Amino acid sequence: MKMTKLFVQTQREYPSDAEVISHKMLARAGYIRKLTSGIYNFLPLMWRVLKKIETIVREEMDASGAQELLMPFVQPKELWEESGRWEAYGKELMRMKDRHDRIMCLGPTHEEVITAIARDGLKSYKQLPVNLYQIQSKFRDEVRPRYGLLRGREFIMKDAYSFDTDEDGLDEEYKKMAQTYKRIFDRCGLETKMVQSDSGAIGGSVSHEFMVITDTDAGENDVFYCDSCDYAANSNHAISKMTETNTDGQIYFNKSEIIDTPNTHSIEELSKYLKIPSTLILKTLVYIIDKNPVLALIRGDRTVEETKLMNAVGGTEIRIASAAEIKELMEQNGFDAIPGFIGPKGIKNVKIIADKTVQNMKNFVVGINETDKHQVGANLPDLGISEIIYQDIRLVEAGDICPVCGKPLSVTKGIEVGNIFKLGTKYSKPMNAVYTDENGKTHPYIMGCYGIGISRTAAAAVEAHNDENGIKWPLSIAPYHVVVIPVSTIDELQMSTATKIYENLLKAGVEAVIDDRDERAGVKFKDADLIGFPYRITVGRTITEGLVEYKVRETGETKNLTPENAVSEITEIVKTIK
Ligand code: ATP
Ligand code: MG
Repeated sequence: MKMTKLFVQTQREYPSDAEVISHKMLARAGYIRKLTSGIYNFLPLMWRVLKKIETIVREEMDASGAQELLMPFVQPKELWEESGRWEAYGKELMRMKDRHDRIMCLGPTHEEVITAIARDGLKSYKQLPVNLYQIQSKFRDEVRPRYGLLRGREFIMKDAYSFDTDEDGLDEEYKKMAQTYKRIFDRCGLETKMVQSDSGAIGGSVSHEFMVITDTDAGENDVFYCDSCDYAANSNHAISKMTETNTDGQIYFNKSEIIDTPNTHSIEELSKYLKIPSTLILKTLVYIIDKNPVLALIRGDRTVEETKLMNAVGGTEIRIASAAEIKELMEQNGFDAIPGFIGPKGIKNVKIIADKTVQNMKNFVVGINETDKHQVGANLPDLGISEIIYQDIRLVEAGDICPVCGKPLSVTKGIEVGNIFKLGTKYSKPMNAVYTDENGKTHPYIMGCYGIGISRTAAAAVEAHNDENGIKWPLSIAPYHVVVIPVSTIDELQMSTATKIYENLLKAGVEAVIDDRDERAGVKFKDADLIGFPYRITVGRTITEGLVEYKVRETGETKNLTPENAVSEITEIVKTIK
């Protein structure tokens, strides 16, 4: 490809709305162009990268025995009613009407469609197991589309679905997919960590995510992991062993009484005022889960993990209650306390979920729904609460104790590029998707589902491989392998040598670009670095001595070689791409 013909326009500046490196660089280097919020054009360079990732995914999925198909992007409401997700999915599902007033949606994922396909085609145990996958655009009306391709509204995903007769079969397929994913990301030049995660709205019981570890804001997930064993989990699922006590050994309150605590609106203010550690305070938070208020109780020094809390009541949407909603809750229960003084005492008809940290708390301090007052030296039985559900709803913190081996946990950030779920019969049962066994009895399929964000993987690769000058693509997914730069296009020897090198590279099967633009060398070098060609061959003045410069983008290493050796060196490297 000649640079003068390549459809790419590099920009001087990063786009003003770009917050993370991959968004900034992909936009500035001419890979993507925004159409509207969360919706991007994949320009020719980007499309080459995406196709390479897709090829790797296809090769590995096919090698695992899975079969590719393609399902429709538009789906009818009725199918989503069968699974019960028309109601449950929420606003990410883009719903619309056709000209006949039939209600449809844009596919955010395809469990319903694939289950309907299986139901029609997989009748007998003899046909199982099967794993079907597709690579396709998805649409999710994300509440906060951001970070360019990392969280778009329209994006490309590989989604696979497996059908088995029993749990053992599913286990085997799940393991096989985990290995397949590892190979896929390795081949893409991405180091990933496989971590336990929450199964979320998609359902099922066991799931793992593949995370690209990063220390930047692009990592939307906190991953807790243990250096001493292989425990690793998303913060929405991570657990830790807790120390049992809530005091430092000192006795602060030897009797239960209500005392004045003026203007102590926060745990910090209260612990300062009473001169007690925050572990002695029982913190009460009001959340709204699927429109209902829920009280969450936790030891004062710890934070509630919202996904865990939401799962504890089987909800699908959670947010912290507003001041007005807290006021309403107070009024309904005959109180008028302001936030900071709320507690579980006397609150009726509201679910009360207490973290396990609360179970062992003694002689603590707690709000009693009276402004400027707290009860000190309190114990749970004294509070007269009719029902408390104890559940682990605590956010793990770095330094907490690993639940597997007892060593301290560390935390890092991760970009989720793929995940694997055990769905079980979550879709096959409600959709009555069954097979017949040896004895003529019918059973719902045991299903699994396995996603990889193709476009997110490309962006994650940029997050993992860049420097201040631009992208450093891993060779296997780079849009082109090498750029050949004649320093002066009007110098005949330079231009003819560069052209010869370029042609020989093409003949050898190397994907090459020749920068034949009549531009200053500095401009060409800058663009080459920004776009991120893994290799660069520069034909400049040293060609009079028969030498060209060979440069590796990843390491910055340069050496002078003859044109023939430069071509053969790159050809050999390209042959090693798996
Ligand atoms: P997230 O927690 O990041 O929203 P998810 O759990 O909703 O992801 P899945 O529904 O399991 O993701 O989708 C499978 C894969 O699709 C994810 O692992 C991710 O790589 C990709 N993906 C999901 N949402 C987006 C998005 N909005 N933009 C780009 N890729 C996405
Ligand atoms: Mg999501």
